[in-house]
Amino acid sequence: MSATLDAATLLLTKALAAWTSRETLLCFGVMALLVAATPLLRTASGYWNRGLLTDAAYTFFYLGGIFSFLAAAPLQRGLNALVAHYVPFLRQDLLAALHPALAFVVLFVAMDFCSYWAHRATHAIAPLWLFHAIHHSQAHPSALTNFRFHAGDVFFRTLVQFVPFTLLGAPSFAGVPLLWVTVPLTVFLEALAHCDLGWTFGPLGAVVVSPAFHRVHHSAEPRHHHRNYGIAFSFWDRLFGTADATTARPAAYGVPDMEVPESFLRQLAYPFVALARRARGTAGAPVRRRAS
Ligand SMILES: [Zn+2]
Ligand SMILES: [Zn+2]
Repeated sequence: MSATLDAATLLLTKALAAWTSRETLLCFGVMALLVAATPLLRTASGYWNRGLLTDAAYTFFYLGGIFSFLAAAPLQRGLNALVAHYVPFLRQDLLAALHPALAFVVLFVAMDFCSYWAHRATHAIAPLWLFHAIHHSQAHPSALTNFRFHAGDVFFRTLVQFVPFTLLGAPSFAGVPLLWVTVPLTVFLEALAHCDLGWTFGPLGAVVVSPAFHRVHHSAEPRHHHRNYGIAFSFWDRLFGTADATTARPAAYGVPDMEVPESFLRQLAYPFVALARRARGTAGAPVRRRAS
């Protein structure tokens, strides 16, 4: 009994630490500001909708440390143990000789490159698309849509990013991992990209993903499908021929050809139910791959 109590106390302490960390509070502050500002910044209707509550549930799930406790931290520990036991030579620390700032830039670009291809894979491979479609199911995107990701989708991306992270090593300065310092900034930019705004960022838009660039990726129009996969940088799309520089607002967002439920828990079950129905060949399965 005391062991159970100890475990519960430890969990509670960790949860409180996650909730009150400066980085988490900063992220919540950024999100609150964006959510408050978005209706003022655009004229599109439908901002306050049922889906916004679902997006808020995802935001608490990820920023509040719940996902980290249940999945991300155990996954990270498991992967680290596997590498240490079976492939220790993968830990090359290739950036160790570089200045921490330069090493960080190289790591960030390498990880974003992997994220671009992981994102393409989630659109191209049918079972992965079932998980990623949750992100696209919001017909009225806002800053909070940045967190509407199925845990399986995040799991897959974490796995893909683990490879460069292991090979390159995480640069730190004065004991602080630089990647964590940039979390609030990347959260801000990625949340802004979901605000359904026509901002192109001018010449900077050729490098960084702007709201105008990413809203094309969320378009429900078939001519926009499989375009603008970039997460932080937009140049990957130009380099690999998937860029669409359209600045006009898409006629609609979402995945109208799929029956994705509008509830956090039912969305969690959705890809598994759809896969099971497919395996059984049930007629009327609520899933179709996005047409290219
Ligand atoms: Zn996508
Ligand atoms: Zn998105």
